[in-house]
Amino acid sequence: MTALRPCIEARCPRLTSKTRCQEHQRSRDYTRNRPYQNPKWIRLRAEVVKAGRCHWCGATDKRLLADHVIPISQGGEPYDPANVVAACYSCNRRRVDE
Ligand SMILES: [Zn+2]
Ligand SMILES: [Zn+2]
Repeated sequence: MTALRPCIEARCPRLTSKTRCQEHQRSRDYTRNRPYQNPKWIRLRAEVVKAGRCHWCGATDKRLLADHVIPISQGGEPYDPANVVAACYSCNRRRVDE
């Protein structure tokens, strides 16, 4: 039998045999799978794009997207302003293709 521990999320009263209770684990998976629906991301993206300059090639006359310096798939922080820069479409594409 597995010992139950409290869920590690702050103020969560539930016990679990894993790290988090089912509910918190589910919302965590959701954030990881759909990071671009997160309000934090939407706000950060708007801020980065407002700067108006591609971080990689310096273009100011192109449509800009927000780009992760370290991709989330490689362990990058999705919502850390230090890990998010503006990138024009071609730079963003090129980096994704690499
Ligand atoms: Zn919990
Ligand atoms: Zn660019």
